[in-house]
Amino acid sequence: MSTARALPIADSDAFAHPPLVRPARRLDRLRSSAVRDLLAHARRPDMISFAGGLPSADGFDGDGVRAAFEEVLADHRHALQYGESEGEPELRAALAEWMSGNGAPADAEHLLVTTGSQQALDLVARLMLDDGDAVAFARPTYLAALSVFRLAQADLLGLACDEQGPLPESLDRAARAHGRLRLLYLVPDFANPTGETIGLDRRRALLEVAARHGIVVVEDNPYGALRFAGESVRSMAALAETVSASGASPCVISVSSLSKVMAPGLRIGWLVLPESLFAAAVRIKQALDLHTSTLIQLAAARYLASGRLQARLPALRTLYGERHQALERALGRHFGEALSLNRPQGGMFVWARLRDDAIVESSAWLQRGLAHGAIFVPGEAFYDATPDTATLRLSFATNPPERIDIGVARLLAAWREARAAG
Ligand code: PMP
Repeated sequence: MSTARALPIADSDAFAHPPLVRPARRLDRLRSSAVRDLLAHARRPDMISFAGGLPSADGFDGDGVRAAFEEVLADHRHALQYGESEGEPELRAALAEWMSGNGAPADAEHLLVTTGSQQALDLVARLMLDDGDAVAFARPTYLAALSVFRLAQADLLGLACDEQGPLPESLDRAARAHGRLRLLYLVPDFANPTGETIGLDRRRALLEVAARHGIVVVEDNPYGALRFAGESVRSMAALAETVSASGASPCVISVSSLSKVMAPGLRIGWLVLPESLFAAAVRIKQALDLHTSTLIQLAAARYLASGRLQARLPALRTLYGERHQALERALGRHFGEALSLNRPQGGMFVWARLRDDAIVESSAWLQRGLAHGAIFVPGEAFYDATPDTATLRLSFATNPPERIDIGVARLLAAWREARAAG
């Protein structure tokens, strides 16, 4: 018979009633992402989701990606091994070439592969921000970038914007008032959530103010290759070389991703840094996850080398252009004047605002939308403070036109109910 004695530790009051465990105070400001929270609902088969920035699964190149993985696994000794923190050399070279082809010349030596561009944003915050430093951005902005900057304990300075983008004088005022404004975070092409593109002159003016105050510009550009209308605008990274203020050139860190053009499940993102920051960025990457998956990097490199991505882009742009038109038409038909819409020239998002006499509480609208089988993201998720609660973000990327129309009809029914309930 076992004669095991109870360990004395189990009798101790301290262990019988352990103190409440709480996460670090750093997390106090970090909210759960409204978009991530909606993802589980979006997966319901009956749901028509305008919520997530999910690329169309119809645009995924299953055959091409499978072939790339098969080729890479033929030499599995390399593909299944640990790799360099900077990224696989062939992928770094392929991504630098991809960027140059998209108007943002980049040097593979200064390109660091990350696990999605979300990790690149986190890495930039760790690289550049001390506690109490500030970050400026257009209001509203990408909500998971706000999460990164909150986690970094940064002060958040939302800038006033007009239809050309953030106002340079707003950036200048913020820099003077704060004194420690280190980063300007921008999504200049087809922004998330507004779909808007910053004009050329505005890009130059912002770069000048940034150079004057020594603010580093983070150009986050996951959507730039998805233009379906209008003319492309030079990247801030390319423009930086032509701008100088009081003898100083602006510093731009470029961030991008294969998520929106190839497949988000691969989790391949990257950043391009000035030489002086590169070694420190690699040290952070080592601490975060050693390196991004060797297998996936090699498959992505092989896929890029096959030319299939470039060849498929025109069709993808057409697909998104058609879906954008379908959403714009459906919203116009069902909501009429009650909703005003922006008009993106690319990307995935329409930003809408309820006319003042048509406003309903957007979270109440969303709740009823869940019951009717159609969801969106209330605009307030994209504000650091004082949100405009009459706004919403709708993604046109995920659903084909027939579903878009049915989904908008459901949103109308949900909106009517929310209005009737007052
Ligand atoms: N930046 C922006 C503006 C985004 O919209 C997203 C994805 N929604 C990301 C970065 C992160 O994308 P990923 O990590 O998939 O590259």
